[in-house]
Amino acid sequence: MGLEQYKGDMEMCCRCSACKFIPMQKVKGHQYAYVCPSISRYNFHAYSAGGRLNIGAAMLKDGMKYTDKLLDIVYNCQLCGACGVSCNYAMDMEVLEPINEFRIKCVEDKKTHPALDKIIANLKKQGSMIPGAKGKRGAWAAGLKIKDATKEKVDVLYHVGCLTSYDKNLQKLAKATAKILQKAGVNFGIAGDAEMCCGGRAYQMGYPKEFLNQAKKNMAMIKKAGVKTVVTSCADGYQAFKVLYDRFDLKGELKVLHISEYIDKLIRDGKLKPRRKVEMAATYHDPCRLGRLGEPWVHWEGKKIPGDRFVFDPPKPYRRGANGVYEPPRDVLKAIPGLKFTEMTRIKEYSWCCGAGGGVIESNPEFAKWTARERIEEAVSTGAEALVTACPWCEKIFNEAIKESGSSLKVYDIVELVEKAI
Ligand code: SF4
Ligand code: SF4
Repeated sequence: MGLEQYKGDMEMCCRCSACKFIPMQKVKGHQYAYVCPSISRYNFHAYSAGGRLNIGAAMLKDGMKYTDKLLDIVYNCQLCGACGVSCNYAMDMEVLEPINEFRIKCVEDKKTHPALDKIIANLKKQGSMIPGAKGKRGAWAAGLKIKDATKEKVDVLYHVGCLTSYDKNLQKLAKATAKILQKAGVNFGIAGDAEMCCGGRAYQMGYPKEFLNQAKKNMAMIKKAGVKTVVTSCADGYQAFKVLYDRFDLKGELKVLHISEYIDKLIRDGKLKPRRKVEMAATYHDPCRLGRLGEPWVHWEGKKIPGDRFVFDPPKPYRRGANGVYEPPRDVLKAIPGLKFTEMTRIKEYSWCCGAGGGVIESNPEFAKWTARERIEEAVSTGAEALVTACPWCEKIFNEAIKESGSSLKVYDIVELVEKAI
């Protein structure tokens, strides 16, 4: 089926351009009205969601005639989903799915991007998304007395993720997470060297077979370990386990929580008490795959009612991003004594992407950093001295952009601040 299944959605696009902005009703001024990094950066309609759908529809009709320009458009998109949320404010049609399918089609037709090819080759060889990563995946946990979930019975499996496991600057997030769970007395473990990439980023890059391969391996390991709950500290990992594994009927009854949800619950249950003051003015960045794209998958089967109108029996539900994980991270930040919390303009399902998604951090790092800089400016405009996020990929690209721009804004993951507070 692939791209073909979204023919009707692509033909529905009326070229209204709503997908370029946050919904008009939410706009608070010219500066932060835009929501699509691709059209904002390249300023030509083909780089918007509407443009991509128009091209997809035309190519289905007239044949897949690839050009370098077309591939530039396809790969310069973070697959962040902001376009779909804005479009779906008024329209009932799929937007992100056909954009993702378009990329899958390019990969099937061997019109791949060399930087992404390299990532996927490494995934197949070493099981991680980090080419050149040295050492063992579970090495960060040495000496921390963390249970091996593949050998000991645990209530919770902490899935660490590729970037946090291997990046020397981000392993602190895994250590902070482990410390928080230990402090709260949670019976948790990690899979260590047996942990595998969740596969989520491979799916975004247009490689569904490689995604499924990873997903099946992970679920087999989880089943064997008898684990019922998985906690991730990476938004990509969260979306993979929670949404994609469910979509492809692999998740079963597995409970999937992001660490911000789990910490929120631990605080509410009185198992974790943030008592130490963390005096700073901070704002929060919603990672796309924890927020709008972390919204649970809705299984639906039905058929289009014959005729010109795009109506289905039973009515087709659309995921509009409102049911992502928004309040738990905010509640955790508000529970930290001394922290002054302030919001940016584009928040929750209307959040601006950090720039790292869809393989853009690998395929076009300049565009990824440009996107991050836009968010950094927005964070600075609130008067905040710190930008807090809940995904290592966001922290990585924000720090890279700050290094170049010289901004004094500090970047933290939510687990780093909770660690300070306990
Ligand atoms: S994708 Fe949706 S919002 Fe964008 S131009 Fe098409 S109909 Fe309008
Ligand atoms: S997924 Fe993000 S970058 Fe791609 S077209 Fe939509 S809003 Fe733009």
